[in-house]
Parts: sequence; structure tokens; C-alpha cells
Amino acid sequence: MKFHSTDKVRLVMPTAALVTVFDECDGFDQDETGGRVIGTYQEHRDKLDIHVTGIIEAGPQASRSAVSFFQDGAYQEQVFRKIEDQHREIEHLGNWHTHHVNGLQHLSGGDIETYYRTVNHRNHNTPFFYALLVTGRQKSADPLRRYTVKHYIFRRGDERIYELHGNQVEIVEKPLVWPASVGSHAVHRERSEPSSSPARPDRAYDNHTIQEFYPGIRPFSSPKLGVYWRGALDLLDGSSVQVVVLEDAAGHVPKYSATLRDAPTTLQDVADELSRVEFSSARAALIATERNCNRALYRRTHEQHHKSST
Ligand SMILES: [Zn+2]
Repeated sequence: MKFHSTDKVRLVMPTAALVTVFDECDGFDQDETGGRVIGTYQEHRDKLDIHVTGIIEAGPQASRSAVSFFQDGAYQEQVFRKIEDQHREIEHLGNWHTHHVNGLQHLSGGDIETYYRTVNHRNHNTPFFYALLVTGRQKSADPLRRYTVKHYIFRRGDERIYELHGNQVEIVEKPLVWPASVGSHAVHRERSEPSSSPARPDRAYDNHTIQEFYPGIRPFSSPKLGVYWRGALDLLDGSSVQVVVLEDAAGHVPKYSATLRDAPTTLQDVADELSRVEFSSARAALIATERNCNRALYRRTHEQHHKSST
């Protein structure tokens, strides 16, 4: 398969979107994963300007293997509706997924077939389809260089597949509309980072990510507990739950655990499950907590819906 160049397309990509994608990749060593890319676009004659403003996660019913990945469309639609309520201009721009687990350096035949069908489908809103592909993991401490990516554009009624090159992709510092907490409280809070802790780049990155993605949660340190993060985690249904992430620095490599405080009964199973697992970073602990809580809430809504419709 040949990929073509084009000078007709420009893509604007916030760093927060890449961080969201890369954090998700960090959680899947064996399986493909991905999500939906949302944002806005302008078309002038044959020129296309695409602005990414959010990433919707794969969803609780997504299925993954080393060579395939299917998103939970119903869940993503529900999230999209919620975003659309507040941002009428937002559209589905396309998908992202990763091949870093199987080493394939470009879109697969199956990917291409699916995206052709999508972009030419009469229900498809936009005259193009954007595909972000993660192709490999890098040995880099820079959070934005953890993985290599490729950007593809499919255009309606066009046989060619376009690959975007460096200068066509502009990386910007802009807040996202989703995940919900990103940039929604763009106020700089007073710094409360522990000062006595030894310099660890990963902890700085934890703090950076948590501050950006989980504005309700702040770092603390105490002689008794050591380093921890505490605060309110915003959930899919508009509720929030108190969470504490604790660092266990006793071993050679620090470990992290997450605890829900005063969890409602709907989240009791999640709380129990969390009490049994350890994470490699504070952000991983928070991401897993958020995902598991949202999954529990979503399942519950689904079950209620089923009951009321039968
Ligand atoms: Zn693929």
C-alpha cells in the first residue's frame, strides 16, 4: 500500500491529546488499544484544516488483542453527546490506535478497508477521516516522545491515503474538551508539591500529568504517610469521588496504591478491587481508578436501562 503526500491538509494537535494517547498506550503492553479523536475542522476549496480538541477513551466494552482492537461505540456515543451539549461545533474527526505491540509500521489492510468504508458512508458527517497511528515505543524521558506516531487522512471519494509529514502537524499547548477534567479548571493552584522528596523525574511527570488532567487532586507529603495525592475525581455522570493515591517508596522501585474514600455503594466493588492492586506511577493509579469508576457507573446505567425496557 502506497501512502501519498499532500500539501492540502494541516493538523493542529494539543500536547494534552498526545499525552492522553501515550498514557493509554503505557497501560497496554500486549494488546492494541485506541480511542476516538474529536475536534473541529474548516474546509476552503480543497484545503483542510483540522483541530484536535479531545480524545474519547475506548470504553468499558472495548475488545483488544495483539492484532485487533474494537471500540465500545455505544459508550463513546454517550460521551460524545455529553460533550456536544456544551460544544456544538465538535465533530468526530477519526480514530487513534496503536501498533506498538505488533510492530506494524503503518495502517493494516483491515484498518484501511474500515476507514474507506467509514469515510464514504452516507452517515459519516465529515468529508474526511483522520487516523492517528502509534507505531513504536521510544526510550525517551520526554513524555511527548515516549512513542512515535503517524497521521493519515482519508478523503471522501478519493482513492488515495494521505500521510501527513512533520511541518503539517502543529503541536500546541491548548486544553482539551475531553477527557473532561483537562483544562476545565485552568487556574494555577498554589503549589503544594513536597519539597523534601528526592528528585525523581517520574514524580515530576506524575505531578505535571495529575495537575493537568486531575485538577481536583493535589500532591502532599507527611512524615507518616510520605508522598501522596488526594482530592476529588470527577466522574462520567457528573458526580465525584474522593481518592487517595499513596506512594510506597520502601522498595527499590516505588509502588503506588489508590483508595476511594467514603465511596458510594455503586463504587464499592471498584474500591475493593483497587485495594488489591499496585501501580507503577501515581498517574497510572489515577487513570485506572477513573476508568474503573466510570465503567461501574456506565454498567449500572446500562443495567437499569435494560430493566426498564423489558
Ligand atoms: Zn491497526
